[in-house]
Amino acid sequence: VVDVRGLHKSYGLTEVLKGVDLQVRAGEVTVLLGPSGSGKSTLLRCINHLEKVNRGTVAIDGELIGYRAAGARLHELREREVLRQRTHIGFVFQNFNLFPHLTVAENLVEAPVSALGVPRAKARERAERLLMRVGLRDKAKAYPGQLSGGQQQRIAIARALAVEPKVLLFDEPTSALDPELVGEVLDVIKDLARSGTTMIVVTHEIGFAREVADTVVFMDNGQIVEQGAPADVLDNPRQERTRAFLSKVL
Ligand code: ATP
Ligand code: MG
Repeated sequence: VVDVRGLHKSYGLTEVLKGVDLQVRAGEVTVLLGPSGSGKSTLLRCINHLEKVNRGTVAIDGELIGYRAAGARLHELREREVLRQRTHIGFVFQNFNLFPHLTVAENLVEAPVSALGVPRAKARERAERLLMRVGLRDKAKAYPGQLSGGQQQRIAIARALAVEPKVLLFDEPTSALDPELVGEVLDVIKDLARSGTTMIVVTHEIGFAREVADTVVFMDNGQIVEQGAPADVLDNPRQERTRAFLSKVL
């Protein structure tokens, strides 16, 4: 589904991604690990074209993101086109990013109606099903500010699902939460994994990675250092840098 090739990204003179290749197959969960500053968030932001890349390509279901190929050249797409592409890529942030002035139900109805043209009644039905799925059906009329962090993040996940994305990207979805709220959010993500949602999850929750990931990718200094099955990367890392990182977080 996701095909990242030769991705380079610099901020000024600092090269933050130094040639990243990453493939994620349909229905698979990839967990992305790495030290602070290694480029994990930047990679996610490049995948949905929130950041423009310097070199390399991102394709989702064979469609280039942010560009149109014209012979050997790439032409940048118009903002409108990029926004359309982005509606197929769900993004869940560390800090929930719900619309504070909208109710929970309205948060879930917004994007399908305005970006995809789904009839409002249908979007409402879908919102209700999604709220049931994340265990928050009774919160439809609440405002985000009235919910706990864990509840807000579960709503943010439901909102990301409301547009039926091809892939869901998570950037440290539990790191802003009190420890006792982490489990409920991870449980929702685990449930999505079981039902075959394609996901890339940046997290420091190693237990979660071991249980849920099909592939664990370890990044350091803008490059993928090692990737493979959780049992290989987490329990028998081949690279010294991976070992050093794991010894700090485990
Ligand atoms: P963390 O675990 O702390 O979230 P990360 O792996 O997500 O780290 P990134 O946020 O991708 O790391 O950042 C990679 C590097 O790019 C860092 O050195 C950071 O300072 C730099 N960087 C990120 N965004 C910008 C920006 N908008 N302008 C300049 N430099 C940036
Ligand atoms: Mg980050």
